[in-house]
Amino acid sequence: MTDSQLPVAVIGAGPVGLAAAAHLIERGQTPIVVEAGDKVASSVRAWSHVRMFSPWQYNVDSAARRLLDKAGWQPPAPDAIPTGGDLVARYLEPLAELPAMRPHLRLGARVAAVSRKGHDKVRSEGRDRQPFVLRVEGAAGEDVIEARAVIDASGTWTMPNPSGADGLPAIGERGAADHIRYGIPDVLGGERARYEGRAVLVIGGGHSALNAIIELAALKQAAPKTRIVWALRKERVEAAYGGEAADQLPARGALGSQVRALVESGTIEVVTPFRVARIADGCSCGLRVSGEVNGSSRTIAVDEIIVATGFRPDLSFLREIRLTLDPWLESSGSLGPLIDPNLHSCGTVRPHGAKELAHAEPDFFIAGMKSYGRAPTFLLATGHEQVRSIAASLSGDAEAAGRVELALPETGVCVSRPIGVERAGEPVAAGCCGPAREEAAVQQTSACCAPAKPAAAAEASARQAGGCCPA
Ligand SMILES: Cc1cc2nc3c(=O)[nH]c(=O)nc-3n(C[C@H](O)[C@H](O)[C@H](O)COP(=O)(O)OP(=O)(O)OC[C@H]3O[C@@H](n4cnc5c(N)ncnc54)[C@H](O)[C@@H]3O)c2cc1C
Repeated sequence: MTDSQLPVAVIGAGPVGLAAAAHLIERGQTPIVVEAGDKVASSVRAWSHVRMFSPWQYNVDSAARRLLDKAGWQPPAPDAIPTGGDLVARYLEPLAELPAMRPHLRLGARVAAVSRKGHDKVRSEGRDRQPFVLRVEGAAGEDVIEARAVIDASGTWTMPNPSGADGLPAIGERGAADHIRYGIPDVLGGERARYEGRAVLVIGGGHSALNAIIELAALKQAAPKTRIVWALRKERVEAAYGGEAADQLPARGALGSQVRALVESGTIEVVTPFRVARIADGCSCGLRVSGEVNGSSRTIAVDEIIVATGFRPDLSFLREIRLTLDPWLESSGSLGPLIDPNLHSCGTVRPHGAKELAHAEPDFFIAGMKSYGRAPTFLLATGHEQVRSIAASLSGDAEAAGRVELALPETGVCVSRPIGVERAGEPVAAGCCGPAREEAAVQQTSACCAPAKPAAAAEASARQAGGCCPA
């Protein structure tokens, strides 16, 4: 095989990896999709019980759709909202089984390292002419795949953030692992016995935390002794509710409204702003989680903890690749200022593709959830547009690669820094509400910037969440 005949390696057969393969196939390229799990979409399967917040119309990639349509696929209703399980069963599995796709998948193969053939990270001479080498581990042992380009779409699901407020595991967090789950455990299904009638602390203020709380509240209805304590870093619990009715994805807005009602009814005990520092098996009644609330020490006693503090990218297997990453988000290329949650939060992002996602290493891209690094609010529609552009770029179609188009539903809460405020010495490239810096100022007063909700549930949010163990 000459270098130009080598395949494009796609790491991960999640929704974005499979979409990348579909775009490459459509352009006559040869992808090889390397997936760690024994089945496609291994990470989505882990949250198959969770209902998504975006309806089908936003969840299906255009090239994947064209391949499926040719095979007589029956598409789900565009406005219906799938669970993670539906996404796999109705879309990703049929896509993976297509004769055009199946031969390109290598399942049960984890990418352990990526490099350039014969070149470590330091060596420049002739580097760009060398193929990539992917070290792959599977049941049959170690193997090497050579590729002319790499699209890393391995997501972030396998790298949850720890509970500690400083981004590190709380002291004792690893030791308490038997009582800690990360993400959104199946509280009403397979993990019901673990939480029924127990005191459960949910840590985190994003959509995963809201989902976990709603499921625990449903469990509490059936098992009233279940106690739910919610600890967030946010100054005010109201900030976690999001845009509610103003959210352009109603199912996403409804998460906040449901949790608001649960807090206001006293079903949930809220401790905020809580900065977790230590987790200890303090006494016979379970775990003692201690930290700081407004400068005072506080200890919460619970049986179980659900840590829903977001995710971060696994960069360990990219150690030999010359990455261009945002210094604090660890997002790809020049994406950082477009998605920085310190700057804006309305859930939209300016259309972007191969150019914005480029690294110092030519022909290497990170796409999908992982391209956002630690930033929240990634949507599948963003990933689909990313890989459409990357596939065009790798096929030499610069015009199609540069023509990026994306219309995303906004969260209904748009907080953006005033125009002129700089980010790490660089001008803010775009407000979250619109494509251009100048327009952002105008759009801040538009529908995407919903007024803040009135202060509510102050009493509930101030409620103490003590347990059987004295602080
Ligand atoms: C609970 C939840 C609900 C969400 N709801 C929505 C929603 O409603 N709408 C929306 O637009 N977005 C939603 N998202 C966000 C996002 O769209 C999803 O996380 C989506 O699955 C991201 O797709 P991905 O392909 O980038 O990554 P993933 O789905 O995480 O797929 C990555 C794949 O890579 C594999 N992999 C990982 N490491 C390796 C390795 N080293 N070697 C080989 N393979 C590897 C994994 O096994 C996995 O199959 C949601 C996310 C979560 C967690």
